[in-house]
This record gives sequence, C-alpha cells and structure tokens, in this order.
Amino acid sequence: MECCLLLSSDITTNNTKLYRRMEKQITRRNAIGKLATTLAFAAVAPAAMAQSSKTTPKNGSGPGLTDPTTKYPRPPFKKQPQPFPGLGSKMTPVPDHGEESYVGSGRLMGRKALVTGGDSGIGRAAAIAYAREGADVAINYLPEEESDAREVVALIQKAGRKAVAIPGDIRNEAFCAQLIAQTVQQLGGLDILVNNAGYQQSHDSILDISTEEFDRTMKTNIYAPFWITKAALPHLKPGSCIIGTSSVQAYDPSENLYDYAQTKAATTSYVKSLAKQLGPKGIRVNGVAPGPVWTPLQVCGGQTQDNVQVFGKDTPLGRPGQPAELASIFVQLAASDASYATGQVYGAAGGGGQP
Ligand code: NAD
Ligand code: MG
Repeated sequence: MECCLLLSSDITTNNTKLYRRMEKQITRRNAIGKLATTLAFAAVAPAAMAQSSKTTPKNGSGPGLTDPTTKYPRPPFKKQPQPFPGLGSKMTPVPDHGEESYVGSGRLMGRKALVTGGDSGIGRAAAIAYAREGADVAINYLPEEESDAREVVALIQKAGRKAVAIPGDIRNEAFCAQLIAQTVQQLGGLDILVNNAGYQQSHDSILDISTEEFDRTMKTNIYAPFWITKAALPHLKPGSCIIGTSSVQAYDPSENLYDYAQTKAATTSYVKSLAKQLGPKGIRVNGVAPGPVWTPLQVCGGQTQDNVQVFGKDTPLGRPGQPAELASIFVQLAASDASYATGQVYGAAGGGGQP
C-alpha cells in the first residue's frame, strides 16, 4: 500500500512536472509558431500582394483562399499574332511564370536540372521553381528567344543557383548530344531532365499540313526527346528523373491539331514505356498534361487568332491556366519524396481533358 501510495504520489509529482514542462514547451512553441507565421507572412506577403493586382477574389474567399476562376485573367483576350517562336514578354497580358509568387522550401537542394524550352511558358515556370527549390538549372531554347532566356537566367541567379543557357535547335541530333554534354560539363552532372520544348501549329484541314510542317512537329516533339534522353541516360544515376510535357491533346485531340495531338499521345506513351524500362535502374519517368495555358506557343500559330481571343473559355474554370500554376507539379515529380511516382501523367487542365 505504502509502495502504491509512493508510486501514485510519484506519478502525481511526475505528472505535474511533465505538465509544467509541456506547458512551457507549448507556450514556447506558440511563440515560435507566431514568429514563424509572422516571418512566413513577411516573406509571402509581397508576392501575394503583387499577385493581387491580377486577382479579383470572389465572394466567400477566406484567408489563404484564392478563387481559381478569378485568380488570373479570363477571356476575351486581344488578337496578338507573333512570328514563331514568339516571346512571352510581348504577350498581352504577359504570362505569370511565378516570378513574383513562387516560394521554394529546399525540395530540390543540390539537384541539377535541364529544362528544354526553359525560356518561356511552362518550361520557364519549372526553371524558376527548380532554382528556388535549390537546383542548378540549364535551359535550352531557340536563338530568337534570347531575350526571354536572359530573364530566366537572371531569375535563376537571383535565387542563388547556377544558370546555364544553351541556345540551339533540338531538331538536330548532333545538337541534342551537345546539349547534354554541355549541361553535364557546366552543371557537373544531371539528375532532372525535363523534355518540355514543343511545336504546335493549328491547321483546319489535314490537307493544309505540308510534309515539312508535319516533319517539324514530329522532329521537335518526338525525335528530340528521344535523342536528348538517349544522350542523357548514361549520366542519370539512381534517384534521377525524367519529365515529359504531354497535353490534354493526348486524350482529347482537337480537330485543328491533327499532327500535334499525335505527338502528345506519343509523349504519354514514351513516359509510360520508359518508366517500365528505367524503373529497375532507379530512374523515375513521369509526365505533365496541361490543358490550355497562356504561352507564346498558342499566340504564334498554335491557335487561330479567333481562338486566342476566347482561349480557355470552355474549361470549367472559364480561363486559361498560367504557367505558374503548373510549376509545383514539375517540382513534385522531380522531388525525391515522390519516389514511388513513376509512369504517371499529372494533369492540370482547368477541369477538362483527362481520360
Ligand atoms: P512556349 O512557346 O513558351 O515553349 C515552347 C518552347 O519550345 C519554346 O520556348 C522554344 O524554346 C522551344 N522550341 C520549339 N521548337 C524548338 C526547337 N526546334 N529547338 C529548340 N527549342 C524549341 O510554350 P509552352 O506552351 O510553354 O510549351 C511548352 C510545352 O508545353 C510544349 O511541349 C507544349 O506542347 C506543351 N503544352 C502546352 C500547352 C499550352 O496550352 N500552352 C498545353 C499542353 C501542352
Ligand atoms: Mg519561348
């Protein structure tokens, strides 16, 4: 009994001590939590405020909530033809690639990435996010896109990471080999390969597609990822990953994109085939399938100018996506904590398009 009492009083004493310790810890944690919240707000607030100029939140939005239907510009847009390959900086409105908004958290610290078509659009958003997550980034683009590319290089450097700019035409097999060699040499390796560059031209009839045009679409969208991936593979260690940019066109092809849609079905297929082939080597292969996204590809022939005016209107969100809205998907697929995701194609299409 004495023993029991003693134990019981010990427990009571210990419990009291424990409770006091917990109380102190909780108070300390609250203080740290409040400080962290304040700091996080201080870090995020300018970005959120910068974005709010483009955003008109609808009724019912609470703190931290953004209505996706009004977050970004909605059609109608003005007609704005540009010669291929076009510049993001000349679009109205200028696309959002996360320049003001993407906040990294070290998810790709020390990684080495190559993003083709990294000067503009979806590839640019991925390149900016990768750098802010701690990766060194090489981008490839066409020489005509140097001004867009320079901006991306500056943003990668501003994030404190190494930026490598490698202009050149990926329809050339020898250049694709050089692209990988230069990337590996200048970054000191490669462990994230994003095959993102693409070519799309709208044609109302199959009769309007010349053999040269068909060939250009196939060379850019199918041959180039084949050549680039072959050249990269000897450098990819277990834990590396490959990401291909597919499209809703792979599942729901438009009548005016006869050739392009085939190449996106091919992208989805190569992702799933390569994932099986490279899984045993510890290399993950995934894809991203965007719906209509506001990028130069669309205004320089990817759509008719009539379609540009209503671009994205027929999605459930009623607007096109902005490249920034896809960045986190590219990060997620590249991050090591997504280690069981391979052979997957992640969609971001405003509510339409998937099988
Ligand atoms: P974008 O014009 O910003 O990017 C395409 C890039 O491809 C260009 O910047 C250019 O650097 C590169 N490119 C084209 N031909 C090339 C060549 N011969 N050599 C080297 N580089 C070349 O447009 P985006 O929409 O961001 O396109 C990126 C990817 O997203 C493409 O694969 C496209 O098919 C895909 N995609 C886009 C949409 C959309 O609505 N914008 C939808 C689904 C899929
Ligand atoms: Mg471009």
